[in-house]
Amino acid sequence: KNLKKYYPITGGILGGEVGVVKAVDDVSFTVKRGETLGLVGESGCGKSTTGRSLLRLIEPTAGEVLFDGVNVTALSADEMRKMRRHMQIVFQDPFASLNPRHNIEKILEEPLIVHGIGTSAERKRKVQEMLEVVGLSSYHARRYPHQFSGGQRQRIGIARALMLNPKLIVADEPVSALDVSIQSQVLNLMQDLQRDLGLTYLFIAHDLSVVRHISDRVGVMYLGRIVELTTSTQLYSNPLHPYTKALLSAVPTPDPDAVRERVILQGDVPSPANPPSGCTFHTRCPHATEECRAVRPAFQDVGDGHFVACHLYKP
Ligand code: SF4
Ligand code: MG
Repeated sequence: KNLKKYYPITGGILGGEVGVVKAVDDVSFTVKRGETLGLVGESGCGKSTTGRSLLRLIEPTAGEVLFDGVNVTALSADEMRKMRRHMQIVFQDPFASLNPRHNIEKILEEPLIVHGIGTSAERKRKVQEMLEVVGLSSYHARRYPHQFSGGQRQRIGIARALMLNPKLIVADEPVSALDVSIQSQVLNLMQDLQRDLGLTYLFIAHDLSVVRHISDRVGVMYLGRIVELTTSTQLYSNPLHPYTKALLSAVPTPDPDAVRERVILQGDVPSPANPPSGCTFHTRCPHATEECRAVRPAFQDVGDGHFVACHLYKP
């Protein structure tokens, strides 16, 4: 709810604060139990910061995170540690997030030890069980991260996130570093796990084609804000925001008869330290008017839960 993460820019002659980067600037959304919400946008749009703020791996500057009715943002450090059992994260680069000096058994056992769960024998049993769940074998437990392929390492990253039986997984570009052929295997695994374990996903990606099949709903972010959010079906068949249309026009369609107007965006993404006035997309939007340059469009439901922040649409 109204989540913000601002980073001060320090520098200047006296080393004081000279500005602020609004990495996440007033973002509100809901993830329903058992669904996958995709969060998409170019790098630097604030999607990872949003995901990490939910788990307070990054402390939000303002706003609230409500999880099962509990205000996560108000929890003490100790209460937050307990809450993390229910909210876990899978990172883009599993290699960077797996300790190279520990074997897989030790890596997977660690969250259980931290949370004081089970006896040593019970924990090791759980490791074996979880390796099977993610499609690896128990003999992998004695191996080290460098002995695995990228796809296997991501399976280990997923297994580690699942060790505490969480309810919510924030998946931060979990397949972006993998070969395309391996991507679909990992996506399929994640979908199977969701069905079997009743998981809820916030699935972050920079590519609309990746989130298409896994997401029930998709939010599109631009410069720290969500500009459009609707069901996956609606977003792909009836995108409203000019930015979403541009992103979608870059995605190859499997249907050779589908004619999609190719939208070329002008210019680069503006710096989040100095975002444009009004609608922050106006510097690149083919439909920009005076109103767009002056007034920030509200993020509103224009019908059936299709949210968009653009002056072209009124509820
Ligand atoms: Fe384009 Fe204006 Fe809509 Fe922004 S508000 S996306 S500038 S038409
Ligand atoms: Mg990121």
